[in-house]
Amino acid sequence: MKIICIGRNYAEHAKELKNEVPSEPVIFLKPDTALLPKRNPFFIPDFTDDLHHELELVVRINRVGKNIEERFASRYYSQITLGIDFTARDVQKQCKEKGLPWEKAKAFDGSAPLGDWVDLGQRDIQNLKIELKKNGEVVQSGNTSDMLFSVDRLIAEVSKYFTLKIGDVLFTGTPAGVGPVKQNDLLEAFLEGDKCLNLRIK
Ligand code: MG
Repeated sequence: MKIICIGRNYAEHAKELKNEVPSEPVIFLKPDTALLPKRNPFFIPDFTDDLHHELELVVRINRVGKNIEERFASRYYSQITLGIDFTARDVQKQCKEKGLPWEKAKAFDGSAPLGDWVDLGQRDIQNLKIELKKNGEVVQSGNTSDMLFSVDRLIAEVSKYFTLKIGDVLFTGTPAGVGPVKQNDLLEAFLEGDKCLNLRIK
């Protein structure tokens, strides 16, 4: 399986990192080794002093598809969760300054913890409240209605380049409020008020 991620999909987040608001989706990948086995703690890697949380809606692909039209894209998923796109912000900054790919900063082992999958059901995927608490305090709060590119548009765009396969996951970008995590922090993610991810930082 593969992990497909979208950068800068919320205008307020693009601004907080002083990035341009993109005119087309920013796409990158993480390997399957970026998944964090359930109930494992997350260990901060040695190579960063500025590890950031990025809370994101994640969609699980349930059909094989290539060049999917946006109007048919909703047929390719039925389950969603929240995930953290962990980012070594210091490493990413160095990569960006040199114009280099940023995988070292974003695709390392365990950098893509996922919550429990839930059925989307009749809910509107473009009107979901997502929230991240760090040590009990809300640090990120957003709504998928603020995405620059909708989930269906993202699937259309991504599938131009990559064949989507069953079990692939799509991280859809983070709202504003990204920030550092340190040892012993507790991260809790809430989808429409329901907790779906609980992660201890080691
Ligand atoms: Mg992200």
